Amino acid sequence: MRKQIAAANWKMNLNAEEASNLLDEIYSKSIELSSNQMVVLSIPYIYIGEAIKKYKAKNNYFIAAQNCATTTNGAYTGEISASMLHSLGVKYIIIGHSERREFHFETNQILIQKIDRCLENNITPIFCCGEKIEIRDKREQNEFVANQIIDCLFHLNQEQIKHIVIAYEPIWAIGTGKTASSQEAEDMHKNIRLTLAQKFGDNVADQISILYGGSVKSNNASEIFSENDVDGGLIGGASLNANEFSGIINALKK
Ligand code: PEP
Repeated sequence: MRKQIAAANWKMNLNAEEASNLLDEIYSKSIELSSNQMVVLSIPYIYIGEAIKKYKAKNNYFIAAQNCATTTNGAYTGEISASMLHSLGVKYIIIGHSERREFHFETNQILIQKIDRCLENNITPIFCCGEKIEIRDKREQNEFVANQIIDCLFHLNQEQIKHIVIAYEPIWAIGTGKTASSQEAEDMHKNIRLTLAQKFGDNVADQISILYGGSVKSNNASEIFSENDVDGGLIGGASLNANEFSGIINALKK
């Protein structure tokens, strides 16, 4: 069975004390994960070092970053590279979140470089894709998302693509309280898997975890996660509350 993943995206929230408390609270829930389940906590860079030490002994929990630089090192003031994150023990990085595409003008060309930096450092990119409402209104969402996959991931080889996690996040559902229906999520996840299969074959496409993101809460997670091609979620707002996030972890398929 594919890995089932509950991934938190804290974004630019919480001061140092709040972040430390939330990590402690989630830790203390002692949720039993099966071997195919994982929790990934994507937190602000500055808290990563401490968090990794805190979670060292916690199996199947990973501390992740929300972004990395396109380059390896050098005169890039304010940037953080995948190799720096690797040196702290980071195994996952969110790449191409719609907020970075929109507010930091990240193009597919930029995302390709970030994906490559991750893979060079044995880090799994959690690659985000998803359409705006205008595109869904025109019923062009399948083609649009397929093109994001083609543009950003089709340069990879058969081995590399296995180290990618995909997060389908319809932009109209992020932080809006409006989720895709479980059928809409399943239809898009199937479309993504089919797109991957056309390039990498059914067997490889079948192994890739595809997460759904967009206003997932503890009260709607089970329904969405129960769909065949939905392998968990990328969670923004609800990941900032330990009870909510624990409910979402508990909704993962066993
Ligand atoms: C996100 O930003 O990745 C996200 C899914 O946010 P929210 O859960 O708040 O919609």
